[in-house]
Amino acid sequence: MTAYDSNNIFAKILRGELPCYKVYEDEHVLAFLDIMPRSPGHTLVIPKAPSRNILDITEEDYLHVARATRKIAPAAMATFKADGVTVQQHNEPASGQVVFHLHVHIMPRQDGVALLAPASRKEDPKVLEEHAARLSAALRG
Ligand code: AMP
Repeated sequence: MTAYDSNNIFAKILRGELPCYKVYEDEHVLAFLDIMPRSPGHTLVIPKAPSRNILDITEEDYLHVARATRKIAPAAMATFKADGVTVQQHNEPASGQVVFHLHVHIMPRQDGVALLAPASRKEDPKVLEEHAARLSAALRG
């Protein structure tokens, strides 16, 4: 098992060294928009604890991510008027993981609309700003 590398891009976001389109934060997790969304509202939930993926995260930290995912998924469906939601999480390169800080993908889905391929299109920052504002407002209730 490869050790956690604290220079990964999500660790830099957690340290405030890189910006993100934040939608939710609590003591244990941060959630922000994927800048190359595979569907409108594609959100990533990450633990604040340094974990590479499901193979090294503690049960407690994983449960914090699961709780936040369960909170954000229905809010994302409602905000983006989706018919469903795909929740996905990759572990190690063989599975498609490219950023090595655990993250859960929340992707709102429309009937009959396929997901874009991973990292195929960078979204317009104005659209991301607007989507983050709408989703974070929904989560604040
Ligand atoms: P994975 O293939 O599960 O490791 O997914 C990594 C995801 O991170 C991809 O969907 C990328 O589009 C996304 N991503 C990469 N850099 C950033 C960033 N700076 N902010 C938000 N999402 C990012």
